Amino acid sequence: MNINVKQLFNIIGEKKEFECQIPLSELDFLKGFKFAKPICLCGFLFNRAGIVTLKFTVRFTLTVVCDRCLDELDRDYSYEFEHTVVHSLENDNDEYIVAENDTIDIAEIALSDLLLQLPSKMLCSEDCLGLCTKCGCNLNHSKCECGE
Ligand SMILES: [Zn+2]
Ligand SMILES: [Zn+2]
Repeated sequence: MNINVKQLFNIIGEKKEFECQIPLSELDFLKGFKFAKPICLCGFLFNRAGIVTLKFTVRFTLTVVCDRCLDELDRDYSYEFEHTVVHSLENDNDEYIVAENDTIDIAEIALSDLLLQLPSKMLCSEDCLGLCTKCGCNLNHSKCECGE
């Protein structure tokens, strides 16, 4: 989703709110992560004393597999991000977003921010009992006779 930021740069105090969804079809490239529904993206751009700030919240639900017991579960996440939007950049800086042709792609920014936050390890709960090493039953749901 492209947002034109020309007016934001020109008018101090200017604010632009946005809200959109990133459909599942655009999330296919995130290999290894299964989104249960489209990502919700909402936030605003604000020109404060000539500095344009982008602030947004990303909400999404991941279908994850517990590393210990292999149960599948849906888990909700919400992250907030903030960037300064500039016209050009002299040095590389991840905090800054460069608005080429006065445009920023908000979905692209959100996804690259998101990628850095996605959890690599997952447990259904901190005290998940996991699987029995002998019979493979899920010890959270049932008890077996293999152990002590
Ligand atoms: Zn588990
Ligand atoms: Zn067992």
